[in-house]
Amino acid sequence: MIKVDHLTASYKTLDGNVVAVEDANFEIRDNEIFGVAGESGCGKSTLLKVLYDILDFPLQVDAGRVLFTGEKNGQPFSLETGGVRKAWWNHISYVPQAAMSVLNPIARLKNQFLDSIPPEDRGRETKEQTLDRVRAYLEELNLSSETLDAYPFQLSGGMRQRAIIALATFMHPSVILADEPTTALDVVVQRGILMLLMKLQKASRNTMVLVSHDLGVHYQITDRIGIMYSGRMMEIGKTVDLFQNPKHPYTAMLIDALPRVGDKRQRVGIPGSPPPLRNPPPGCRFAARCPKAKDVCRHDAPAFREVSQGRYAACHLLEGEDA
Ligand code: SF4
Repeated sequence: MIKVDHLTASYKTLDGNVVAVEDANFEIRDNEIFGVAGESGCGKSTLLKVLYDILDFPLQVDAGRVLFTGEKNGQPFSLETGGVRKAWWNHISYVPQAAMSVLNPIARLKNQFLDSIPPEDRGRETKEQTLDRVRAYLEELNLSSETLDAYPFQLSGGMRQRAIIALATFMHPSVILADEPTTALDVVVQRGILMLLMKLQKASRNTMVLVSHDLGVHYQITDRIGIMYSGRMMEIGKTVDLFQNPKHPYTAMLIDALPRVGDKRQRVGIPGSPPPLRNPPPGCRFAARCPKAKDVCRHDAPAFREVSQGRYAACHLLEGEDA
């Protein structure tokens, strides 16, 4: 399980801290694909960076923590923000938007695989025996074994993304964090990558956190989804329920803006833009764009709470509803 415990993270700047994730408090369950969605700048990629413990300047955790607990090969493990790096690849892997940001452009893929596999996993294997295992795994992922001799720049975008997914999943990690893994790809390749991620998650029964601005992507593969807006979590629920019956006005407007097969009506986006993270307004962050805003919304921030079984939301309209 991943427990995001009242997490606040910010970017340090010369003009003060810009809070990108504020008081995020929720859980991600074992063996699920959990999606994080929202407009660009809502904090979803920052949240993923903190989960992966990429706390490089200027990003910092101001409050709270992330706790990973689980079991791998019969051994329980527990990791916390600040100590996650030692478990990279083995327990927790990361699939970035652009594979080139992880792959070394001047190293053949086989060397990058060998570098990422810890000696305890290789045991007494020779280098060639380890590479034979990698080749067999690549073939399972529809990548030819010759890929191992290639440099990243010799592969197409789709092949590079498959290679990085192979690298990220070779050790069968308990958690896979994927940040917009299909954004840079064309629609056909995108579908292939999504199906691959879903197949790998089902086969390994691990937990996947998928960040994407594209709600269509979430609809296709996630089990539950969290909607972020302006650094705050607005709603969490089962993907199917949330699409059929969004509780939060922001979620409802996002879903309403999606194109539908056979519906020729012009879809309009949500008018306005999110407030600046540097100096956000008091109250509900969505108030300036929300057609249902009341006076209280402009000065009191709604609590993020369970509003019905398994559904969490932050909205004053839902405060009368019982969990
Ligand atoms: Fe709209 Fe108020 Fe709910 Fe915010 S709290 S989403 S402004 S109704």
